[in-house]
Amino acid sequence: MTFSIHGLAVARGIAIGRAVLAAASRMEVVHYFIESEQVEAELARARRARDAVTQELQRLQAQMPPDVPQELAALLDVHILLLQDETLIGGVRQWITERLYNAEWALTTQLELFSRQFDEMEDDYLRERKADLEQVVERLLRHMRGAPDAVVCPPRLAAGAGQQTTPLVLVAHDLSPADMLQFKQSVFTGFVTGVGGKTSHTAIVARSMDIPAVVGARGVSQLVRQDDWVIIDGDAGVVIVDPSPMVLDEYRFRQREIDLERERLQRLQHTHSVTLDGQPVELLANIEQPQDAAAALKAGVVGVGLFRTEFLFMDRGGRLPGEEAQYQAYREAVEGMRGLPVTIRTVDVGADKPLDKSHRDSSLNPALGLRAIRWSLADPAMFRTQLRAILRAAAHGQVRLLFPMLAHLSEIRQTLAQVQLARAELDARGLAYGPVQLGAMIEVPAAALMVQQFLAHFDFLSIGTNDLIQYALAIDRADEAVAPLYDPLHPAVLRLVADVIAAGARAGKTVCVCGEMAGDAAMTRLLLGLGLRSFSMHPAQVLTVKQEVLRADTRKLAGWSAQVLAAEEPALLLGAPLA
Ligand code: PEP
Ligand code: MG
Repeated sequence: MTFSIHGLAVARGIAIGRAVLAAASRMEVVHYFIESEQVEAELARARRARDAVTQELQRLQAQMPPDVPQELAALLDVHILLLQDETLIGGVRQWITERLYNAEWALTTQLELFSRQFDEMEDDYLRERKADLEQVVERLLRHMRGAPDAVVCPPRLAAGAGQQTTPLVLVAHDLSPADMLQFKQSVFTGFVTGVGGKTSHTAIVARSMDIPAVVGARGVSQLVRQDDWVIIDGDAGVVIVDPSPMVLDEYRFRQREIDLERERLQRLQHTHSVTLDGQPVELLANIEQPQDAAAALKAGVVGVGLFRTEFLFMDRGGRLPGEEAQYQAYREAVEGMRGLPVTIRTVDVGADKPLDKSHRDSSLNPALGLRAIRWSLADPAMFRTQLRAILRAAAHGQVRLLFPMLAHLSEIRQTLAQVQLARAELDARGLAYGPVQLGAMIEVPAAALMVQQFLAHFDFLSIGTNDLIQYALAIDRADEAVAPLYDPLHPAVLRLVADVIAAGARAGKTVCVCGEMAGDAAMTRLLLGLGLRSFSMHPAQVLTVKQEVLRADTRKLAGWSAQVLAAEEPALLLGAPLA
């Protein structure tokens, strides 16, 4: 039966595919596609795990002391029987051979299907057998995790898995930003999560993948079943489950229209980004990994305006990347941009970007806690490791060094002193490094209000509107419960943004916007009117924004923007034609 779930629109377009429920079980498992040549080996791995667990249970039974209750022995019998159950084994086999899922993924997928059937059973006894099944699967997974001959394969689309014909969409209750990044270059044609705000980092990574995505679709991971047909409307923020043929046709038509529009925009790739009245506008890319440089160049940007380096630090089991590994990563990004400037932001972990997803921050207000520059300054040796790596990468191309979340003059001073110290350390070691421009992010209202001090200490500023909105309006950007209040057009937010842009212009220093606002084509005219000439966004958004720039006349926009800024409800004026 068709039904729809409403969430928040994150990344444009329409995806139609079969649902893959990620980490649906209680157990953390890796998900990756194997290559077709690996099917036999993967089946053998699943078989070995089953045989080993069966033997383990039989051994347990044999060693059971005589005074153990009868029920326990019977329970082990049930577990052994479940391990031989053809529906379980056959199902796992099918997911491996037909979908090229790795064995753990196949197992949890089959468990999920089974669990639904158990839940629907009338008989209490049978319904309770679900827990047995879960325990058996857990044992199998544990065994596989320790299996010495596990297939080593990155959690991404393996080359042979390109034969995958059924489009797949990922459905999850929650995905960490690092999880989401793993799914980059995967076969998924769309994403939907049950929680998360529009500018949560998970949503940001989804957007950078340029595939339709919806977050904050409450209950989606309970309501959608494994393998259901699902439509994700990334523009409307709606998920349609089990659509009728008529609805499917309608969405397929819209999908084709969107593809055509994208092809049309592609023609602007090499067009200079200049307004009708001749104002050049710098369009830059936000990237998360060095390899993203390729997509940035393809989008026709003139540099990287934000390299979020924190993803290099995540999910490493507490071990941070050393100077050499970081240097190689930054150098790869710098060289990948072929002489164009790359703005490298120092690590910004904390809040909704935990260092390790198994160690969620337990402080009461992580967004107000030890995150971003505060985290770096709390461990100066670690901070300088990153600074040295960035300074060394600057020997290979133009680098701008950007610091997140500064709010205090003392933080500015400490940060600049650490940069000096890092240079001195490199001198002492005789290592080459290059010149860098120093920039600060303006993402705390305090920073916007003391913009003059920031301008006095830095070469450039970059407004992080995602956090600036969060902190100005006291709205957790990752919490879908308050998402309707997260308003980029709130007059207070616009006032802070406008003042920073104006102060930068007066001081003759570049001010960029690198929050999600910069990639939203509905905001382009307003930001241009406020005097912004540097925008940094996901590569996928560049051409749409460029189209707006090419159509804009900043002489007409200035007066209109002042009206929007002064309005009680700026949103009402945003779509209005210019006088
Ligand atoms: C921002 O806050 O706008 C920003 C660009 O930084 P991040 O989204 O990584 O917090
Ligand atoms: Mg930020």
